[in-house]
Amino acid sequence: MAIGVKVLKRPDRDVSYVRATLKGMSITFKKMFEPKVTMQYPEEKSAPEPERGGWSLSPRWRGTHRMLTDEQGRSKCVACGLCPQICPANCIKLVPGEDEEGNRYPLIYEIDEFRCVFCGYCQEVCPEEAIHVGVHYENAEYSRDRFVYDLERLSSQTHPVSTLWDPSDPRGE
Ligand code: SF4
Ligand code: SF4
Repeated sequence: MAIGVKVLKRPDRDVSYVRATLKGMSITFKKMFEPKVTMQYPEEKSAPEPERGGWSLSPRWRGTHRMLTDEQGRSKCVACGLCPQICPANCIKLVPGEDEEGNRYPLIYEIDEFRCVFCGYCQEVCPEEAIHVGVHYENAEYSRDRFVYDLERLSSQTHPVSTLWDPSDPRGE
């Protein structure tokens, strides 16, 4: 496809910028009476009415992980090893353990959120629906090592978990 180039010629006489200034100011003035689309983050995080200019995160947003727990507060993870196996960023560290009844559990389970690419494969592959990516985005920290979430921290997250892409409902409707 040919690309059109528009050449703007500089005026060869002195021009007044008053007209352009007035035009710019008229746009500014007009905008003063239009509904505001800005919000006071972080006090305001999402507007309750997205149709009026607010926003909210998609339920399919893939952010910081959550490890779900059972009624006794224990991690649902059975240390099967599938999520570290499938993780393309190699950012899941799992050291499995086994209790006296032969039940497997994670002795160490860590996710380096800094290396994670938030693909969601770990959530998709988990047979126990234990590990999830979450609808969450506020991950600022003062040091890099704080981005390595251990089991306790993963289990204490409370944000909603992500609804992964469903091929039978590709638009999420
Ligand atoms: S979301 Fe993807 S990159 Fe991140 S921990 Fe899970 S599998 Fe690894
Ligand atoms: S896939 Fe699920 S059960 Fe298996 S190690 Fe990962 S979190 Fe644990």
